[in-house]
Amino acid sequence: MSWCSGLEAICRPEVPLRDFTWYRLGGPARWFVNPRNDAELSDVVTRCNAAGVALRVLGRGANVLVRDSGFDGAVIALRPPCFDEFTIDGGRVTVGAGADFTKVVTRTIRAGLAGLEALAGIPGTMGGIIRMNAGGRHGEIASFVSEVRVLGADGAIRTLTREQVGFTYRHTNLDGCIVLGAVLTLSPGDPEALTARFRDIWNQKYRTQPPVSDRSAGCVFKNPPGQSAGALLDQAGLKGRRVGGATISPRHANFIVVDDSACAQHVLDLSDLAREAVFEKFGVRLEREIEVW
Ligand SMILES: Cc1cc2nc3c(=O)[nH]c(=O)nc-3n(C[C@H](O)[C@H](O)[C@H](O)COP(=O)(O)OP(=O)(O)OC[C@H]3O[C@@H](n4cnc5c(N)ncnc54)[C@H](O)[C@@H]3O)c2cc1C
Repeated sequence: MSWCSGLEAICRPEVPLRDFTWYRLGGPARWFVNPRNDAELSDVVTRCNAAGVALRVLGRGANVLVRDSGFDGAVIALRPPCFDEFTIDGGRVTVGAGADFTKVVTRTIRAGLAGLEALAGIPGTMGGIIRMNAGGRHGEIASFVSEVRVLGADGAIRTLTREQVGFTYRHTNLDGCIVLGAVLTLSPGDPEALTARFRDIWNQKYRTQPPVSDRSAGCVFKNPPGQSAGALLDQAGLKGRRVGGATISPRHANFIVVDDSACAQHVLDLSDLAREAVFEKFGVRLEREIEVW
């Protein structure tokens, strides 16, 4: 008997992951699972563990590159209308892991709550944003998180404090955990001023990066301590470099954008080439920020 028998309503075989990632590249997931509540999610995790099925959680796929061969395991997607709770109680905002982060930002601004406007232009779900400790020069999500509710690898649900999550630069200690939701603590602010700051940061990004609508996964490499990966890639003369349908963005050297002729291997080959070029010129080994499945 298959590990997923009886779960046909929420589990489909051989689902192309290109339909669920920002890059729109890559092969299928052996199984694609859309649990509708905590109990179903816990059941799926327990069954996968018992059957030795590899498991990944997918948000908006804004930081993931799926290989052309796909993923030989179960991909769990927490998608609205499930896992997208959004409630405000004073400065305390409770958000489900599947909620679209840009909508969370705009809703908090409209409610006169300050903080998240600093994270304008970062696509993803609340779960993915927390898992990656997403952010940039204006701040990172860690600053606003009070609690994170997770499902552990053992199938148990627990609430972690910010300290327990262990936020550092584009990293958390959440390996093996599935984020179910979070409580954010925001301070009062004037919606008009917050909207102006949001637009300002969004426009700054638009001027210096490829548009959010382009097919990318944001920055390919993490910044090495005290340095900018984008600047190193730029100084290595990589802007505009192409492999197949993948190009190092002429606007920002740490973005690889793709066109309709691209496959995932083009992105991998181009990022390897870029990493080697930076190592040869500067002796710096860049570490990937995007996840390759
Ligand atoms: C145009 C563009 C601009 C970007 N700019 C920025 C930026 O300025 N700063 C920045 O930090 N990032 C940026 N990114 C990257 C991306 O937006 C972030 O990494 C974001 O956090 C990804 O969220 P997601 O929901 O799409 O996660 P996914 O890409 O789906 O997943 C990323 C990781 O999070 C895990 N994950 C997802 N959901 C959960 C969950 N519920 N529980 C546990 N783990 C989970 C996945 O397993 C994976 O390990 C950009 C991306 C794009 C396309």
